[in-house]
Amino acid sequence: MNIIFLGAPGAGKGTQAEIVSEKLAIPTVSTGNIIRAALKNGTEMGLKAKSFIDAGQLVPDDVVIGIIQERLSQDDCANGFILDGFPRTIPQAEALDEMGIRIDKVIDIDVADEAIVGRLSGRRVCKACGNSYHLEYKKPAVDGVCDACGGELIQRADDAPETVLNRLHVYHEQTEPLKSYYASKGKLVTVKGQEHVEDTTALTLRALEDEA
Ligand code: ADP
Ligand code: ZN
Repeated sequence: MNIIFLGAPGAGKGTQAEIVSEKLAIPTVSTGNIIRAALKNGTEMGLKAKSFIDAGQLVPDDVVIGIIQERLSQDDCANGFILDGFPRTIPQAEALDEMGIRIDKVIDIDVADEAIVGRLSGRRVCKACGNSYHLEYKKPAVDGVCDACGGELIQRADDAPETVLNRLHVYHEQTEPLKSYYASKGKLVTVKGQEHVEDTTALTLRALEDEA
């Protein structure tokens, strides 16, 4: 199954993507994680992306489309994949269509703007593997330490309050139109993001079962 997770930054799409990925044994492809890895490794693409990310802006379409094209052509995506954070603009969605990539379901994790800022300020990510946690909603077993790899948990620079507002604005402006794009194709399912991760997961899994 080929699935897209949509939603505002901090709506919890990455967390749901990770859970479903394990459950269905298909990889999650997160453009945010790929770009951050490139940044950390100091690649040319990473350098190009840095100023956009730091400002809470989107990285240009051609850059992320290139990333996705390469990643989805790898063998592990042959039996299905989950896209987390892509597409984020209409041209990106059109690029997927042009690549001939079939999308089975688009899950929109719906969370009100007012809740987003608090969610992002409490978010912590693993410096080593990128797994994400939350100080209240998704605590690691040991404070400040990643459950998956033992790495150090840090706050992302773009989770700073000023940048968060910018990202929300960009989301409404450029990403939200994807809801009608996929609704008109009959692919969109809306899941109301709940306060607790497990509750959102239950709704997400139900939404996916309707398909199978
Ligand atoms: P979040 O969903 O919490 O905003 P991501 O990790 O998905 O975080 O993305 C972080 C940043 O990476 C975005 O603010 C943007 O600058 C860049 N980025 C990720 N995916 C895309 C994309 N599909 N198109 C453009 N920029 C992207
Ligand atoms: Zn880790």
